[in-house]
Amino acid sequence: MLATAERTRPDGALGPVKTIWHVPVDPQSCDGDCDAHRILCDDGPGIGIPGGIRDVPRDLTGRSDERWCPPCLAVIENGASRHLPLRRKGLTR
Ligand SMILES: [Zn+2]
Ligand SMILES: [Zn+2]
Repeated sequence: MLATAERTRPDGALGPVKTIWHVPVDPQSCDGDCDAHRILCDDGPGIGIPGGIRDVPRDLTGRSDERWCPPCLAVIENGASRHLPLRRKGLTR
């Protein structure tokens, strides 16, 4: 599955980097040097400095530092609207 990476440090600034894979809204628009990618789980500007789009296996067994974004997967697997603002629920913009 095509994915774009969000780097996080769940254990704080000095902790290990973990990768969360999000599903890009428009992978064809990636030129490999984008400033941001829009992703299915967020109706905002998306991920900054996304590092391109990769083909990532759905099953990440054995890749403990990586995981799929659950809201992105829900959109793919349930066919939900890609504009569901899951992350922004309760926020006004
Ligand atoms: Zn996501
Ligand atoms: Zn790109």
